[in-house]
Formats: sequence, structure tokens, C-alpha cells
Amino acid sequence: MKILVTGGAGFIGSSLIRKLLQNKENQVINIDKLTYSGNLDNLKLISNNKNYFFYKSDICDEKTISKILLDHNPNCIFHLAAESHVDRSIAKPYNFMISNIMGTYHLLEATRDFYNKKNDKEKNIFRFIHVSTDEIYGELKREDEAFTEESQIAPNSPYSASKASSNHIARSYYKTYGLPITITNCSNNYGPYQNPEKLIPRIIMCALNGNKLPVYGKGEQIRDWIYVDDHSEALIQICEHGNIGENYNIGSQNEICNLDLVKKICYILDEKMPEIQNSFDVKCKSFFDLISFVDDRPGHDFRYAINSDKIYSDIGWKASKNIDDGLLITVQWYLNNSDWLKDHEN
Ligand code: NAD
Repeated sequence: MKILVTGGAGFIGSSLIRKLLQNKENQVINIDKLTYSGNLDNLKLISNNKNYFFYKSDICDEKTISKILLDHNPNCIFHLAAESHVDRSIAKPYNFMISNIMGTYHLLEATRDFYNKKNDKEKNIFRFIHVSTDEIYGELKREDEAFTEESQIAPNSPYSASKASSNHIARSYYKTYGLPITITNCSNNYGPYQNPEKLIPRIIMCALNGNKLPVYGKGEQIRDWIYVDDHSEALIQICEHGNIGENYNIGSQNEICNLDLVKKICYILDEKMPEIQNSFDVKCKSFFDLISFVDDRPGHDFRYAINSDKIYSDIGWKASKNIDDGLLITVQWYLNNSDWLKDHEN
């Protein structure tokens, strides 16, 4: 398979590319603008692979995208390129509107033109996977049922609104032009190579620097955390076995509130205290002492939870890692890769 990935130098995109290249039959073309959150270090492990091609480009640059599509003739596109951090979208929504909405539009236009030049056999195997988030559904109360694919779309932040818009545009290109598009909505990801502006690596980074561990509000917000490689595997399986023109929710039934999550990280770090004290300048007795509550994020959604029944019944995918196993691997990775963490401090 020849596979084009947008946003492949980011957190999830790099996990997807590493996984795709485990199959020697695959060729992967990565298009990434390399914004502050895109980093080629995330792909060091595969950068010399002869089946890997990288183009530094903005997805809004339709002409360049069209040329790359024609030059490589991929059978599949995974679209992940986006501005992805809710706090940044609150501070400055503009880039979110441009990359997430207009970028998706330009990519779809380039893809439409490219698809129309394919013969029927090529058209039959071509797939476009639009990668989106559960945040498009808005928030749940504690007692609500988890989001299904039929849940109302009701985004609350500029980030989730821009992603919801891109979902609608992708859907319209399936309905109007017959582009073979499948949309995915995944819950919060965690794992290695995540930018330390996001909760889990931020907490680990603060802890290793001996700084306070900031928790929004009272830390009551609940998320369904999924290990990033589980998400990547789900995307590959949806590409291979999912239905065109449909949506799939991807979650892992690991709901936990932010405060409990931070406590789990503290627990793991406390267990590893001797290892940490050898390598870092940390003076606390227990990381629990560093937990500190900060002003809540405006419009902070209380709870997200994903019902993944459809992907399980249609495709047979389910997450392989629970939060305890996934967190342990993740914390150990950041301890072993503290230079990476330092280099990515924003
Ligand atoms: P990320 O910020 O780590 O990576 C985004 C990548 O996109 C970066 O490499 C960046 O350079 C690139 N990019 C941004 N704007 C671009 C543009 N205009 N042209 C080309 N490249 C551009 O984000 P992530 O966490 O890896 O998320 C990837 C995708 O998955 C996003 O679409 C996001 O909405 C979606 N998603 C993320 C999560 C999560 O928990 N992180 C959950 C569900 C869905």
C-alpha cells in the first residue's frame, strides 16, 4: 500500500507512521508543516527507511499537495494535520480555523481532483480517513450515556468547533462527490512523543523539574484515555475494514478524572524515586506534595466518554491497554527520554 499521512510529525501521526512501516509492503508519504508541535525527532526511528518520504508543506497549499499526490499516487490518505491544543485555541483561534477548516478543505479539493483522475480499479481501493475527536460531541454529565456515532454534534471550544466543521466538510465530500471517506472520532490520547503542553507529559515534565503539578479547577473533569498506539491500530483497521461514508468512535473504556490521573502519575514516580533522584534535581519526598490547583479553563467540558461498540462489532477492534499499564510505559518512556522532553518544552 502507498499511504499518505498528513500531520505525521505530530504525536499521533508519528505513532501511525511507525506502525505502518512495520509492514515492509507499505510506503508512507508524510506531509507536515512542522508547526511548533510537529517534530521530525518523533520519526528518528524510521527516518532512514527507504519506504518513507517526507514533505514539509502546509495542507492549505493545494498546488503542492496536488503535485505530491500525482507523484506518489497513494491508495490511502490518513488526514491528521491540525492545530490540536484546546488552550491555544482559546487564546488564539485563528490558526485553528485556517489549518483545521481551510486546510481540510484544500486537502479534500486536491484529493477530489486526484481521485477523479484514477481508473475504476484504483478508485475501488482508494480510502480517505478523516481523523477527528470526541470533543465534537461537547460534554457529558456524570450520569449520561457515553457518546455514540449518533450523538448530537455540539462543540464547546474553538478547537472542537473547528474539528466539527472539518468533519462536516469531509462528510459533504463523500455525499456530494462520492469521495470514499470514513470519519473517526477518538478520545484523549496519551503515550510517548506527546507535546508537553498536554496534560500527561506536562505533569511528568513539571515533576522532573521539581515544579508544582498544575491541575485545572478541582481536577474533576473526566476523560476516556486511550494509549496512542491503540488509536493508530484502530485507524489502520478502519482503513482496511471500515465502511465508507460512516463514522467510527474510538475509545478504550478507561474513564478517569484529571485529579486521579495525576495521582496515578505521582504514584508511579514515587515508586521510581531512587531512579529519578539519580538523574534529576528533584528534592520533594513525594510527588503528591507538588499537586496544585489552578484556575479552571474557560468552557472546560466536564466529561467525555466514548461508546466503542460499533468499531468492535463491525471491525473487531478494541483497545489493548488499560490506563495503568499504558501510564507505566508512558512515564518510563519520558524518564528515559528526558532530553526529548526538554527539547519540546514550549
Ligand atoms: P499534534 O499537535 O501532536 O500534531 C499535529 C501535526 O499537524 C503537527 O506535526 C503539525 O506540524 C501538523 N500541522 C498542523 N497544521 C498543519 C498544516 N496546516 N499543514 C500541515 N501540517 C500541519 O496533534 P495530535 O495530538 O497528534 O493530533 C493529530 C490529529 O488527531 C488531530 O487532527 C487531532 O484533532 C486528532 N485527535 C487528537 C487527539 C488527542 O488526544 N491528541 C484525540 C482525537 C483526535
